[in-house]
Amino acid sequence: MTDCIFCKIAAGTIPANIVYQNDDVLAFRDLNPQAPTHILVIPKKHIATTNDITAKDAALIGQMYLAAKQIAKDEGIAESGYRTVMNCNRGAGQTVFHIHLHVLGGRQMNWPPG
Ligand code: 5GP
Ligand code: ZN
Repeated sequence: MTDCIFCKIAAGTIPANIVYQNDDVLAFRDLNPQAPTHILVIPKKHIATTNDITAKDAALIGQMYLAAKQIAKDEGIAESGYRTVMNCNRGAGQTVFHIHLHVLGGRQMNWPPG
């Protein structure tokens, strides 16, 4: 999608601090971090919200979690703990309509979330 900021990051036309990528997924540091580690894992393919995920995307979504696991290890937060979050639609706080898995850690994460 030409007007999607995360598609532009995936295409390399907007810069990002990339920490992990393979053929299908990309991970980069959040511009406005909410924790000492705050990384976004995205599929390179455009999917607007979790409501738009189909059965054909199952392996791709699995790859996002495998990337999150590797990133947590690389960031040194795998054992202390981290949170993975995907916000769906505005009521949940989604502002960029290309799915992204937030990987947050490096501080105590509270529950319930806001
Ligand atoms: P959402 O609110 O949709 O769950 O999360 C969107 C996230 O994307 C926010 O945490 C926001 O800081 C981040 N973000 C928005 N635009 C950019 C950008 O251009 N580059 C990076 N690295 N992060 C962005
Ligand atoms: Zn997109």
